[in-house]
This record gives sequence, C-alpha cells and structure tokens, in this order.
Amino acid sequence: MNPTSEEVIVVGSGVGGLSCGILLARLGFSVTVIEKNQQAGGLMRSYTRDGIECPVGVHYMGALDCDQILRHIFEVLGVYERIPLERMGKKGVVDRYIFDDFTFDLPVGIQSYGQRLFDAFPDQPNAIRELVGKLEATSRRMNLESLLFSRPKDDSLLDSMESMGGFLNEFGCSNGLRQVLEIPTAWLGVPLEQCPQPLFLMTLASYLTSSWRLGCSGTQMAETFASRLRGLGGRILLGERVTEIHVANRSASGVSLESGNSLQAHLIVCAVHPKTVLEIVPPGAVRPAYRNRISSLEDTQGCLSVQVAVPAADLPARSYNLIRYKNIDCQPRIVFCQVNSTRLPDTNLLAMVSPSPFDDWRAWETTRTGRRGEEYRKEKEARARLLLKEVEPIFGPLDRARILDIFTPLSIRDFVGSANGSTYGVLRSTRQLLRCALMNRTPVQGLYLAGQSVTAPGILGTTIGSLMTVGLIVGRERLRSIILE
Ligand SMILES: Cc1cc2nc3c(=O)[nH]c(=O)nc-3n(C[C@H](O)[C@H](O)[C@H](O)COP(=O)(O)OP(=O)(O)OC[C@H]3O[C@@H](n4cnc5c(N)ncnc54)[C@H](O)[C@@H]3O)c2cc1C
Repeated sequence: MNPTSEEVIVVGSGVGGLSCGILLARLGFSVTVIEKNQQAGGLMRSYTRDGIECPVGVHYMGALDCDQILRHIFEVLGVYERIPLERMGKKGVVDRYIFDDFTFDLPVGIQSYGQRLFDAFPDQPNAIRELVGKLEATSRRMNLESLLFSRPKDDSLLDSMESMGGFLNEFGCSNGLRQVLEIPTAWLGVPLEQCPQPLFLMTLASYLTSSWRLGCSGTQMAETFASRLRGLGGRILLGERVTEIHVANRSASGVSLESGNSLQAHLIVCAVHPKTVLEIVPPGAVRPAYRNRISSLEDTQGCLSVQVAVPAADLPARSYNLIRYKNIDCQPRIVFCQVNSTRLPDTNLLAMVSPSPFDDWRAWETTRTGRRGEEYRKEKEARARLLLKEVEPIFGPLDRARILDIFTPLSIRDFVGSANGSTYGVLRSTRQLLRCALMNRTPVQGLYLAGQSVTAPGILGTTIGSLMTVGLIVGRERLRSIILE
C-alpha cells in the first residue's frame, strides 16, 4: 500500500480508535474517526459532578517509565509529553489488598513482589520462585520489538493456552496465594483459573515495573489523543453513529451514518465491540460461521462504579489503591477503591469499582440512560450504599460521604456500546482463546477490528492491539519505520 492520502475511516474514538487513527495519520493516510457520542475518548474520558472530575476507564496504568512499553507506545503516538502522570508506589505500595484475615501490599519491582510473597507465604517457595521467574521473563519480552516484530515460536499458541489454573494446580498453591493472584485478573475481567498465563503475567508485570495515575483528568487525556490526531491532519466527526458498513464484492466501501450522511473509504477500522460490528455489517457480507463465532463469544462482566465525595478530614487521599477482597458464597467479591484529592480543597473523591453482572440490571434492559425510572435509581442507590458499608471497615465511618454518581453495566452499554455493558469487552479466557485469536482481521477485505476486544483490555492492551491492527494493514516494515523514528 502506498503512503498516499488514502482515505481511512475509523469507527469509535476510544483509546483504540484514536491510537489507530494517529498511527495511520502518521503513515500518510487521510483519517476520519467517527464517534457516536458528542465528545471523543470513549472510556478514557472522565466526567464532572458538582465540580469534581470522576474517572471512568483510567484509574492507573503500568509500564510508563523510561524504556518501558506503554511509555514507548505513548511516545510513538506523540502523546507522552502532554499527559501529566503521577508515579505511584513512592512509599513502597502501589496496591493494598485487604482480605478478611490478612493484608498484602503490592510493591514496585518484580523482585520486591517476590520477596513480599515469600514473607506472606513461606510455605510456597516453589510456586513463588516459578512465578517470579515467569514475571522476569515476561518483562524482558515486554517491548515493541518482541511483541510486534519477532517471529512467533511454533509453540507460542500452546504457551498462550496455558492457564493460571494449571499453574495453581501444578504448585498446589494455598488459598491465600491464590487470592493474591486473583486480584490482577480482575483488571482483565477473566477468572483466575481460566486466565491465560501470558496475559496474566503481562498485566501484573506492567504494574510491577512502574505504576502511574493520571496527573490530569481522563478528559484531558482523551483531548490530548484527539488533538494529536487533528494535528496530524485527521478529523473526528462527533455525534455521528455508524449504522452500516457498506460492503460490495466482499470489500468494504464506506459507511452510513445515523444522520443520513454517508462516507466512502476502502479501508475501515472498527474500534468498537466486535458484536457492534456484526450489527452494522450487511447480513450477507460475512459467512454464518464468522457471525456465529463472534456472536457466541462470551464477554467480561459489567461493573458497578460509585463516585463519592468525602470531606478530606474524614478520608485523606491515598497514594496507593485499596482493593477489598471478600469471599461471598464461595465467589470472590473485589471492590477497587481509589481516594484522590479534587479541585475542591476540603473534598476528596472516593472512586469505587466492583464487578456487577448484567443480569442484576436486566429489568431495565430496554431503557436508556436518564430514562430508567425510580426503581432503577433506588436499586443503584441501595447497591452503592452496600459498597460503602463494605469499605467502611477499611476507611472508618463515612457518615458525611455524599454519593455523586453511580454507573452500572447499562450505563457503559449505552455510553460506548459494549455488549451487555461488559467492562473489558470479549472474555480472553483459555476456554475461548482460539475463537478470539486473530480478531483484528475480518472476512471483508479492507475491514479491520481494533479496540480492547482484539488483543487485550486496558490502555496497554488496547494500544498494543492498535499497533497490531495497523501493522496488519500497512505491513510490519512500514509500522517499524514510525516506531523507530
Ligand atoms: C470502570 C472501568 C475502569 C477501568 N480502569 C482501567 C484502568 O485503571 N487502567 C486501564 O488501563 N484500563 C482500565 N479500564 C479499561 C480501559 O478503559 C479500556 O480497556 C479501554 O479504554 C477501551 O478502549 P476502546 O477504544 O477499546 O473502547 P471504548 O473506550 O469503549 O471506545 C469505543 C468508542 O466507540 C464508540 N462507538 C461505539 N459504537 C459506535 C458506532 N456505531 N458509531 C460510532 N461510534 C461508536 C463509543 O461511543 C466509544 O467512544 C477500565 C474500564 C472500565 C469500564
């Protein structure tokens, strides 16, 4: 493909769509990103309640130190310098895991992590040694050269099929160690037993090598991506939902928008949930086998997220995250908490996220944001109050806490179109790994997928997915040319 101003349409302006757009614009394409919402950024974007910025999909990120992978990706995208970051773990703790009978502090550094595990579980030396070895090996491979350009080994697919369940069984891991390992899998939405080892190791290693919070709002991060794309000549159409992808002779040729407009392009990247793509591709454009494969993929669970304003005197800001883990009816219940200062001098924000199945909200399935009725409001409120009660033993009484906002899987579904409001898109479990392999290709020529469902979720996983999709479109050597620049 020539480096001309060939038109490309990117559907969706989340971090997946914007990063694809930036890379393609850098490669000389004429990029149009189409976003159904009035503002760009998807889950990256924060929102304001009572003057307080509330995060949606960026609480913290890993691997942003010098020579680390997400830093390199942000540099390639040209956004690194313009996203203020705050290093976590300066006082030795990135995450504090709070279990019923013990507490575990996740430190910075793989060796320190290993040491803390040895201290906490002295009867599990073999499992810990093996885990630390695997984390070290993973972190050595966590660079763009290895991930994008090295030839996959013949047995790499088999490697990726190994589950953390296999690891736990092989080493007879104790319940305590199992629980500690369970928490990072919550950042992928995959149960520990079915979590592919490489995905688990990469996620954990990314946070262990260095962890960062935004020193700005999610909105500012989203706007940085958007303005970088515009600076490269790309355009972003806001408030325009793509309702159909045009396919002629099995090739993509353009899109129709809800507004009645249409755009032409022979290259289209859909950075939305793959099931959304099925809805907008004409019925006969893909074979039934492909349609069945995508539509039957299991998705990750949704979440309940509660934003709470608390007097700073009652709840000081913490430089680390707190994660409450409780076994309820033999099911792990994880509540992620972050306490940050806000623009208001005496008020801190307690942001909480906890998994919440779509079934809990099915009664309002046919409703739309803002019009779900009083019963829904009461249900949200009751569940949010329950979460607050659950974290009170950690923080002390929160009588003066004021709930600013609550979002549910229905909110996420309507906001970004994620199937059943799933938090992290398609479930990348070992059980369905083969069915979601090579997801960035489609049977339609010129139509590609990007976004969190194609490779891995999170800002790191999604941007790696964008690089892979762009590599597929332009070839590895052209992709390499902008990475080395
Ligand atoms: C509560 C929560 C907390 C999280 N915390 C973290 C974290 O701390 N760290 C981390 O790394 N990751 C975190 N994540 C995950 C991370 O936010 C996501 O993996 C990532 O943002 C996904 O980006 P995306 O581009 O794939 O999707 P999205 O951000 O969902 O973007 C898709 C975009 O496509 C648009 N769209 C959909 N359909 C159409 C259509 N038909 N036409 C036009 N536009 C359309 C949507 O409106 C949306 O803007 C979190 C996620 C959630 C939900």
